[in-house]
Amino acid sequence: MFNALVMEQNEEGLASGSVKQLGIDDLPHAEVTVAVEYSTVNYKDGLCMSAKGGGLVRKYPHVPGIDFAGTVEESSDSRYKPGDRVVLTGWRVGEAHWGGYSQKARVKADWLVPLPEGIDARQAMAVGTAGLTAMLSVMALEDHGLEPGHGPVLVTGAAGGVGSVATAILAQLGHEVAAVTGRPETGDYLKELGATSIVAREDLTEVTRKPLESEQWAGCVDAVAGAMLGRVLKQMKYGSSVAAVGLAGGAAIEGALITPFILRGVNLLGIDSVMQPYDNRVRAWERIANDLPMGKLEAMVQPATLSNLPSLGADILKGQVKGRVVVDVN
Ligand code: NDP
Repeated sequence: MFNALVMEQNEEGLASGSVKQLGIDDLPHAEVTVAVEYSTVNYKDGLCMSAKGGGLVRKYPHVPGIDFAGTVEESSDSRYKPGDRVVLTGWRVGEAHWGGYSQKARVKADWLVPLPEGIDARQAMAVGTAGLTAMLSVMALEDHGLEPGHGPVLVTGAAGGVGSVATAILAQLGHEVAAVTGRPETGDYLKELGATSIVAREDLTEVTRKPLESEQWAGCVDAVAGAMLGRVLKQMKYGSSVAAVGLAGGAAIEGALITPFILRGVNLLGIDSVMQPYDNRVRAWERIANDLPMGKLEAMVQPATLSNLPSLGADILKGQVKGRVVVDVN
């Protein structure tokens, strides 16, 4: 028997979660059984733990947790053997398939990535989907020409998970980082991660009709969208790129005009971590091991246990989680 956070529906169809004991036969069928050590809380986990499952959970009872790291216990796939250290993010695990809020998980071998040297299971979950996505964003900006010295790189939703990791990676790579936050009290934290300046959220949320504003940013990792992305696009330097990661501020791009694209050659790069091909995942994890200072990663960590998860899920949907939650499932 082992412990897991199980979401169950009441008679009105509303789901809530509690820690329950499960048996190995309760797990879904798949090739690899993993003894999970750590998981984490991403925005999407908040949705999956909400009463209606955020439209992502298909059936109940359900074990959420879109990320986990641990050790292979059993495998019918030749790529993995007992004792291998692995990490899983995405592939709709924790949404359509049972996830990592459990001491054991059974998943497809295709979904796993071997943990790179230099990163342990706890650190991998301090990174998690949010950190992997931050790295994929930085890689996309680099692929489109961003280099240190080009000017300040804007990170929106900076005190959140994606934003914190993006700030630390960009600073480590030698970029000036302008961190946008709606929580002024996180200013010192963001500067410790390497932000060179702090931009108040309100400075970027007014919807304007101007076709362009003065050129300020050499790149941007945007976790917010909404009115902020509409404004930021008009402030991008000639030929620069925005990596569009998230929608914490709304799914529309309010006030956006075509002008930044056709007059300044600005690029809007879509970043998806969920279905990201294996080779690029491996490349991103290797880059994380090399370019994300583990001391800064530790400064982002808020520890938690399985029983803390329902309230943390509600907090992250309200934008109240700072940095990265690391869940010790044992
Ligand atoms: P967090 O909640 O940790 O971070 C989001 C941050 O956005 C908050 O901390 C806050 O930062 C800011 N924010 C929240 N609400 C608003 C608002 N109304 N207006 C402006 N800013 C706001 O979430 P994650 O970092 O885990 O995820 C961020 C986004 O990225 C989510 O939308 C998520 O779904 C998406 N995502 C997408 C992935 C992909 O594959 N494309 C993968 C991972 C995440 P502050 O307090 O500093 O202002």
